[in-house]
Amino acid sequence: RLYNEVQDLKGNIRVYSRIRPFLPGQKKLTTVEYIGENGDLVIVNPAKQGKDNRRLFKFNKVFGPTCSQEEVFIDTRPLIRSVLDGYNVCIFAYGQTGSGKTYTMSGPDISLREEWGVNYRALNDLFEISQSRKGSIAYEIGVQMVEIYNEQVRDLLSTSGLPKRLGIWNSTQPNGLAVPDAAMHSVRSTGDVLDLMKIGLSNRAVGATALNERSSRSHSVLTIHVRGVDLETDAILRGCLHLIDLAGSERVDRSEATGDRLKEAQHINKSLSALGDVIFALAQKTAHIPYRNSKLTQVLQSSLGGQAKTLMFVQINPDVESYSETISTLKFAERVS
Ligand code: ADP
Ligand code: MG
Repeated sequence: RLYNEVQDLKGNIRVYSRIRPFLPGQKKLTTVEYIGENGDLVIVNPAKQGKDNRRLFKFNKVFGPTCSQEEVFIDTRPLIRSVLDGYNVCIFAYGQTGSGKTYTMSGPDISLREEWGVNYRALNDLFEISQSRKGSIAYEIGVQMVEIYNEQVRDLLSTSGLPKRLGIWNSTQPNGLAVPDAAMHSVRSTGDVLDLMKIGLSNRAVGATALNERSSRSHSVLTIHVRGVDLETDAILRGCLHLIDLAGSERVDRSEATGDRLKEAQHINKSLSALGDVIFALAQKTAHIPYRNSKLTQVLQSSLGGQAKTLMFVQINPDVESYSETISTLKFAERVS
């Protein structure tokens, strides 16, 4: 078959693909042959001739290399807004290291407002909307940020010394905190959040040889908790937004990796497959959802499934040298969509 079709996405799970541009000065062969308005993406293997060298993948939306951060955010915004109405939302960036996960979630540099990623735009929106509703609903917004590295959860916003290992509460009660011992910082503006991110980044660097190295092998989970009190009825609503920059999905050559590197790779592999399994089970509406297989899915349990909404950005590096990783990334996406 020339094309490998994927069934249309349904329910509360949506999957977007984003192709990053070649960096300035790079002139490379691309694997991206076609991007459709309707979410079609055709990937070609330029090293292979004939009609079997291309495959079609289907997404809810595909963002090409020239799409701006703002354009990407426009299609994310409705999900963000639903958090203020009491929904739980998870937004993931998935892909190999260098495919643009951090660019999509945070942006290249927090001091460049125009280039802000989903995270800061989302917070900005939450603050603006909560302000505009202040006559009828009083909102409080709190932020936690943890890192999951080698199946251990660490607080990235701890202000008291070294980030400690944290336990996960096996609490499925609605909106119960999954990681109650991670510091919760109350925030009133995007400026407050930017200050917190500086703490987060410095905690993330602790013990790491190189920040980039470490950040590509751990999942970072920024959680925004929203609590609203209806001023007329005193009714309370709670919503929660998780913004997740996943560890790099690249496969590690078993013959080359040893020791710590191999252990890291196995942990990453395990948690990304566990995430795929949970989303797959939710999409299939299976009775048993296998949340217990990784720390990542345990932390996110109350925000995956039920009424919660999930968005995954599947990040693609168009370089022909990434062809086989790109195909494996797209196969993951195919399974969860
Ligand atoms: P990852 O987090 O997946 O390892 P990065 O987000 O760090 O990847 O992206 C790798 C490089 O590509 C960075 O230099 C980043 O600024 C750049 N980049 C990624 N996506 C884009 C984009 N959409 N537009 C411009 N540059 C991008
Ligand atoms: Mg990154």
